Amino acid sequence: MKGMLVILSGPSGVGKDTVLASWSRAEPRVVRVVAYSTRAMRPGEVDGVDYHFVDRPTFLRMAEEGAFLEHKEVHGNLYATPKKDMEALLEQGKIAVLKIDVQGALTAMALRPDAVSIFLLPPSMEVLEQRIRGRGADDEATIQRRLKNAKTELSFADRYQHRVVNDDLARAVGEVASIVATTEERA
Ligand code: ADP
Repeated sequence: MKGMLVILSGPSGVGKDTVLASWSRAEPRVVRVVAYSTRAMRPGEVDGVDYHFVDRPTFLRMAEEGAFLEHKEVHGNLYATPKKDMEALLEQGKIAVLKIDVQGALTAMALRPDAVSIFLLPPSMEVLEQRIRGRGADDEATIQRRLKNAKTELSFADRYQHRVVNDDLARAVGEVASIVATTEERA
């Protein structure tokens, strides 16, 4: 059985990881496509789980060889979506999820019109700020940068096929699951 490609975006702190974790617990076919990055591994991160951490020469060689669906530089670090891992998951019939920024998502949508695209929205900017602060991972300057970026990112929400408000977690996960189920039935 052929799988389904899902493009999932939304501002930092909206709950992408939380939704994905909850959805994949309920539906074992859901697997995140692990991206490649040249940034330093943070404490608690696991190579091959959070990212495939590679050095710059390795990354650039892979890019040259056409290994990536899309890649980009953010704050001096390179990030990419690997083609082969994504294809392998789809061949296995998985629901392969790209957790991806807006810029990468627009590229991925153009290259993969078969993908279903979902933008996760916060119930409000106030709730988004509470979630970023509640996560306790960022200093004040980073929080302010994330909130500023969020406004720009939210302006791209209408470029996605679907928008889901992450208000109540179980409700939001249910909506994402039902969007994907409906899309699969039509395919
Ligand atoms: P992202 O992956 O989009 O950056 P996270 O999944 O890290 O966001 O979530 C940010 C914070 O918001 C976390 O502390 C998480 O527990 C919390 N959170 C996520 N979804 C919900 C929700 N539906 N209701 C309440 N809190 C949530």
